[in-house]
Amino acid sequence: KDEVNIISGALELRKKKVTEVMTKLEDVFMLPITSVLDFETMSEIVKSGYSRIPVYEGSRGNIVTVLFIKDLAFVDPDDNTPLRTLAQYYQNSCNFVFEDVTLDVMFKQFKDGHKGHMAFVHRINNEGEGDPFYETIGLVTLEDVIEEMIQAEIVDE
Ligand code: ADP
Repeated sequence: KDEVNIISGALELRKKKVTEVMTKLEDVFMLPITSVLDFETMSEIVKSGYSRIPVYEGSRGNIVTVLFIKDLAFVDPDDNTPLRTLAQYYQNSCNFVFEDVTLDVMFKQFKDGHKGHMAFVHRINNEGEGDPFYETIGLVTLEDVIEEMIQAEIVDE
């Protein structure tokens, strides 16, 4: 019975898209690359409780890198290190997926692992007058996908 539930949960992943489980951009805790890693900023990061913090340049939709909490291990708040300096040192890359990617594909990508367990969801914005452009609308992590699998399992009972 358990196996049947897990399998049906896994099969459900094919029917759902990343947009259904992502954390919306407006709810994402992120930092501008112009931040200074002083005591106040570092306290805020720790208080947020997240292990990965997207870093943006200009507007929140323009994510340029990710800060890992472990990157802060050698940072002394008294040094007032610019976040940009740390970002250039670690150069953590971001993984982007389109909004219509299904959860089974997302799960496989996370499982294969070479791009980490977080992805930014983007779409092509071709409304308005100008040229179409990529717009980031949220983030999805392995936990979001697994949660969905478990939920399907519970509902099925
Ligand atoms: P963490 O390792 O930080 O706990 P998880 O990968 O376990 O992150 O994800 C837990 C939940 O938090 C997921 O729903 C994910 O979308 C969300 N999440 C992860 N990072 C952030 C962030 N920086 N801001 C807002 N939500 C986030």
